[in-house]
Amino acid sequence: AGSQAGGFDALILAVPAYRAASLLAQEDEPLANDLRKIPYASSAVIVTGHRLEDVAHPLNAFGLVVPTIERSDVLAVSFASRKFPNRAPEGRVLLRTFVGGAMRPEMLKKSDEELIALARTELASLLGVSGSPDVAIVSRYENAMPQYHLGHLDLVRRIEAATSKHVGLELTGSAYRGVGIPDVVADADRAAEAVFSQLMQN
Ligand SMILES: Cc1cc2nc3c(=O)[nH]c(=O)nc-3n(C[C@H](O)[C@H](O)[C@H](O)COP(=O)(O)OP(=O)(O)OC[C@H]3O[C@@H](n4cnc5c(N)ncnc54)[C@H](O)[C@@H]3O)c2cc1C
Repeated sequence: AGSQAGGFDALILAVPAYRAASLLAQEDEPLANDLRKIPYASSAVIVTGHRLEDVAHPLNAFGLVVPTIERSDVLAVSFASRKFPNRAPEGRVLLRTFVGGAMRPEMLKKSDEELIALARTELASLLGVSGSPDVAIVSRYENAMPQYHLGHLDLVRRIEAATSKHVGLELTGSAYRGVGIPDVVADADRAAEAVFSQLMQN
């Protein structure tokens, strides 16, 4: 994927499925075609820091998820400084407000200023947050969330069967068998083991 050319005994592609597709298209177009069938969604996170006295809610949790039925612009709010230490100074709280996703792709078209204003309105309504945040930053994650639709595992099995025909090639990452960090780490271990055992046999 970089600019350096060379010969390698094995290749583990740990990139999004659509990127793996473009890297493999010349070598195996049917495999690339299946990889392109895994759709991706985008999201944005509005990170805001607040004085604790500006938050009415006790924040006695790690966060909240908003069900679709609520028709909210917000997908979830993570109480980041409640989850992990040293994320906010004493007397302050760091919140991460998630928007977008597969159901609300149009949210990514909003400017940073619009998203920050939206997050402030939603945080006021959900958690009773008042006043101006000390800090407000928008992070955008374009095409970063693979979507597992009906038939996903059949598609993954087909991709794995096609990949196994290329000795020394493994695919890993959130596109295939789990999107959480622990799943991704476990799948990376599996890919590394598979490559080692192929190298030992050949
Ligand atoms: C906003 C958001 C919040 C999340 N929160 C959580 C959470 O709280 N807990 C949890 O368990 N999971 C969470 N996830 C899911 C988790 O972060 C991802 O599923 C996981 O990071 C995916 O890892 P990955 O290595 O498959 O993909 P990525 O982390 O996307 O890594 C793919 C890498 O490939 C690189 N790349 C792409 N193309 C090329 C190329 N041509 N050449 C070289 N490199 C390339 C990219 O730069 C990137 O570094 C979250 C995801 C998002 C988007």
